[in-house]
Amino acid sequence: MIVPKYLLMNGELTPYDDARVHVLSTAFKYGASVFEGLRAYWNETQGELYGFRLREHFQRLVESLRICRMASPLDVDGYTADLVRLMRANDLREDLHMRVSAYVDEDDGGLASFEPVSVAMAALPMRRYFGKTGLHVQVSSWTRISDNSMPPRVKAMPNYHNSRLALLQARADGYDDAILLSGAGKVTEGPGYCLFMLRGGKWVTPPVTSGILESITRDSLMVLAAEAGLEVQEREIDRTELYVADELFFCGSAAEVTPILSVDRIPVGSGEVGQRTQALHAAFLATVRGETPDTKGWLTPVFASVPVAAT
Ligand code: PMP
Repeated sequence: MIVPKYLLMNGELTPYDDARVHVLSTAFKYGASVFEGLRAYWNETQGELYGFRLREHFQRLVESLRICRMASPLDVDGYTADLVRLMRANDLREDLHMRVSAYVDEDDGGLASFEPVSVAMAALPMRRYFGKTGLHVQVSSWTRISDNSMPPRVKAMPNYHNSRLALLQARADGYDDAILLSGAGKVTEGPGYCLFMLRGGKWVTPPVTSGILESITRDSLMVLAAEAGLEVQEREIDRTELYVADELFFCGSAAEVTPILSVDRIPVGSGEVGQRTQALHAAFLATVRGETPDTKGWLTPVFASVPVAAT
């Protein structure tokens, strides 16, 4: 793993080896931590690094904190400025994955402790998340967490226990990945990605009230698909629809657009990467890398033009 020179701990540039959390912090003891996973893409021709929809990610972080009754140390502008400052300080000119965590940092904190909230930011080089073009997935026998117990809308660290149970079982059973169903038996999402299905010439994706994270990639793809003239329907998806779908893919900041080639060993369509998926993937990559004009204000140029607020 290539490690960056600095992380940002509560706004301070901190050498990689010094960025630590105590084992007795509430975050470590009780999982009192929410986070964001963001991306920045290097455009070689323009010599610029573009952060993708940073503000939307930080808005989601602020909402996660609010639901968890934790105070947000910064507002959306403050988080954005700090992250840009960190990326500039490390001077990494390649594709990046950024992780921003906000966690209860009290030493030996009790179950009810909710302060102080610390913020840690890391920006790390990232290649493709999946080492393959398409995935063979299993419908998990684990049920997705739900809004009334462990809300998936909150990007909370402990939610990933549910994700790990499904993913590790899928791997142990010889699959690449998993799709989780809700308690009502409807399709929700993968362990760390949302899902789109092409059926009857339309894209279909489960609604944000179906037990999913409100994915920023999902939202972006809905906009890009509509621009390409394909309708996107937000509605419940049954398990058996996965077996008769024409195309299926996972999406997320890490997963980008990753085709699903089979579900429970039943091939999706022809079993090859679908043409519509390929087209949407290409439009997505051109957008995030700044190869098409940023008409939506989704990109933050890291090395140029953005004033970095003093903190
Ligand atoms: N669902 C889950 C459970 C996730 O962890 C992620 C990754 N953040 C996503 C969906 C995709 O969300 P986004 O597009 O905002 O990265």
